[in-house]
Amino acid sequence: MSQPLDQYGVIGHPVTHSWSPFIHAMFARQTGQELAYRLYDAAPEQFEQRVHDFAAQGGRGLNVTLPHKPAAASLASQLTPRAERAGAVNTLTFNEGRIFGDNTDGVGLVRDLCTNLGLRLAARRILIVGAGGATRGVIEPLLMLRPAELAIAGRSADRPVALAAAFTELGQVHGCALEDLSPDAFDLVINATSASLHGEVPAIPVAAIGASSTCYDMAYAKTDTPFVRWARERGCALAVQGWGMLVEQAAESFQVWRGMRPKTAPVIALLSQAPAG
Ligand code: NDP
Repeated sequence: MSQPLDQYGVIGHPVTHSWSPFIHAMFARQTGQELAYRLYDAAPEQFEQRVHDFAAQGGRGLNVTLPHKPAAASLASQLTPRAERAGAVNTLTFNEGRIFGDNTDGVGLVRDLCTNLGLRLAARRILIVGAGGATRGVIEPLLMLRPAELAIAGRSADRPVALAAAFTELGQVHGCALEDLSPDAFDLVINATSASLHGEVPAIPVAAIGASSTCYDMAYAKTDTPFVRWARERGCALAVQGWGMLVEQAAESFQVWRGMRPKTAPVIALLSQAPAG
């Protein structure tokens, strides 16, 4: 009798738009791993029970997406240092009754910026717009690149200021409201808000980007996101969507679960070229 497939998935709310099943199926095919990867939609009040049910049924690992990343950090019995500092988990692993929480968003973003896009960020000025779960996961790996400044800006100052305060011992990071940003162009502007999901662009002062700025939208879509369009219209050097981050964070999760790293370039190429569905 054949062995049942190892079970993985992504849990979020909503989650139907997720490309993770496609990405992990590509990784599994490429590396010859036999596994199943499914979508699990769970409202916040169902999240914890759904995770425990999945583990009880022998599930091996779950990716966690919006809005459950902080809840996943609370639920894990053990966190990796990067997940603990982020206070957010996007990768759960179930083993012998224990739940391990990790965060692969930061390494995914940095691989896309530095390896795939070839950016050199040491001594550069970086702006992250938005202070939600995704931003929490990427602050530490961005500070490890030794930028001259990492500014976190939001619709109001309170969340960015609180978030920056948790990382000040690691580097030059500060938080503020978008309207209080200094009027100098940043080398890299990362949109880590969920504004694109609503067809909006955050109110970023025009002076924050210039002809040599790179603009990076963590959001991704089959056509240009509103932020990418906004950045191009203002003549920035490069405007990209978060497909590369999505695939790189998935590859890191795959490595955590299966102990091997799939090739990401062919998957990124497929996703960013596939026709709108
Ligand atoms: P959260 O819901 O945790 O945070 C969203 C943030 O966006 C909040 O800080 C919120 O501000 C801010 N925001 C929403 N609308 C606006 C607006 N119109 N103007 C200014 N700020 C706004 O979401 P996540 O942090 O988990 O995700 C953020 C984005 O990153 C999403 O688009 C998600 O899809 C994407 N993402 C992509 C990944 C990838 O692999 N490419 C990985 C992870 C996330 P406030 O605090 O004021 O409410």
